[in-house]
Amino acid sequence: MIGLRSGDAVVVHASLRAVGLGADEVIDALLDAVAPDGLVAMPTFSYDNESFAPDLPGRTGTLAEEFRRRPDALRSAHPTYSVAAVGADAAELVDGHERAGATGIDSPLGRLADAGGYVLLLGVGHTANTTVHVGEFHAGAPYLDIPFDPDWPEHGADRFPGCSRAFGTIERPLREREAIRDGKVGNALAQLVLGAAVIEATVELLRADPAALLCTDPGCYRCSRARAR
Ligand SMILES: [Zn+2]
Repeated sequence: MIGLRSGDAVVVHASLRAVGLGADEVIDALLDAVAPDGLVAMPTFSYDNESFAPDLPGRTGTLAEEFRRRPDALRSAHPTYSVAAVGADAAELVDGHERAGATGIDSPLGRLADAGGYVLLLGVGHTANTTVHVGEFHAGAPYLDIPFDPDWPEHGADRFPGCSRAFGTIERPLREREAIRDGKVGNALAQLVLGAAVIEATVELLRADPAALLCTDPGCYRCSRARAR
């Protein structure tokens, strides 16, 4: 599928409606593409600190939810930004996420990028590309201590990623680097890019302009406060 090969590790962000195929069909195709030694991961974010339980549904779409329900899927224990994974090293990938920070450098998506893993976008843009948040941590973005939402309860020393509405900005520098492989899966446009390239482009972008990934909605709690700095 779109150039994924046996042994690859990949995190998938998808709109199943855009793809137009069944969830099981897409999941099987992904697992087959990287089998036998690869790994597939998907976000199973719950965005709700207070009621997280590993067997409660995530809020990141039908494909991720069906994936999480696979008998061999392992889910990390971060209360808001959990990730599910199937395949080789899945246990190592999700281990300790609750201590590593939502999208920190040692979070599952940070580890996946470090290990040479890919990000696959199926029918969604880079606003869904959570690895950009990992890049914000690598860059030491100056707004990581601002809560995503003032109503979110504190969660130890964890820092949460912010708004991703402006993450479409990352596509241009990635295209300039020729880091994106375009394709089609079902009816959806697909982009495959190395997680490390996403992080590198994010760090470079934020070095040039620390506000490059903030949205311009004055009603956005986090971005408006970050801009004010
Ligand atoms: Zn915002």
